[in-house]
Amino acid sequence: MSVDLTDEKYEKHREAGEILAQVRAETADRVEVGASHLEIAEYAEDRIRELGGEPAFPVNISIDEEAAHATPKPDDDSTFGEEMINLDIGVHIDGWLADTAITVDLSGHPELAEAPAEALEAAIEIIEPGVETGDIGAEIEDVIDGYGYNPVVNLSGHGLGHWDQHTEPNIPNRAVEQGVELEVGDVVAIEPFATDGGGKVNEGSDEEIYALERQASVRNRDARKALEQIVEEFKTLPFARRWLDSRRAEMALRRLKRQNVVHGYPVLKEKDGCLVSQKEHTVIVTEDGCEVTTRPR
Ligand code: MN
Ligand code: MN
Repeated sequence: MSVDLTDEKYEKHREAGEILAQVRAETADRVEVGASHLEIAEYAEDRIRELGGEPAFPVNISIDEEAAHATPKPDDDSTFGEEMINLDIGVHIDGWLADTAITVDLSGHPELAEAPAEALEAAIEIIEPGVETGDIGAEIEDVIDGYGYNPVVNLSGHGLGHWDQHTEPNIPNRAVEQGVELEVGDVVAIEPFATDGGGKVNEGSDEEIYALERQASVRNRDARKALEQIVEEFKTLPFARRWLDSRRAEMALRRLKRQNVVHGYPVLKEKDGCLVSQKEHTVIVTEDGCEVTTRPR
């Protein structure tokens, strides 16, 4: 079966990626000691909208041992210090996504920041129809290992579905036996993580990102209003507590979680408390290789 890569959905993936390449660069440029987490996140999210996209998920600003799923609280007053900062940003156009991440190192560990970037380039180089996801993982592991660091093995790349940020196939960050073959037309995010720790992340206690789990009738007024906004604006994509209009968002979310209407994404932290770096691009598998949608054109 042949796949038409000029189809409208691929055009929307490309448009999302183009916006994202620009926003990633502009946002990373603004990260410096003393800059505000909330201002940086809102800058990126506003820029995405100005350029004609929608944020596919809240801008993730993960610091030092945090690997993913951290985003500013409403009224957050945190600022950057001499830290390792992972920015993970997503854009969608009508539910067709692009996903990218970059580490900005203000901590004095440039090689740790470089390792996943180099691993990502090596992975992209081998992607073509028929490549096994396990071989992509082996490539990533090999490069990061060469730097003397460990890949984070319980985080992985993924497919990007319509209104769905994480679909099959899973793209491991180490060599695995059971992989699947990529096919023409697959849209996947490749995201190596490196650490100077053991290479595993655990869930922490902080949680600022949520997504709809199922629809249900909700009696409480605040919770019902919040659910209406979620279904209307975010659908099945992740959202931040600070994106909710309700002044009682925290209470509303607690109720929606208790009814299993939404689920949270706890901040993921390196198990040994060590530094984590990340780099991510979205690619479309083509006849003879792949097209990186999130690179500047
Ligand atoms: Mn990402
Ligand atoms: Mn991703």
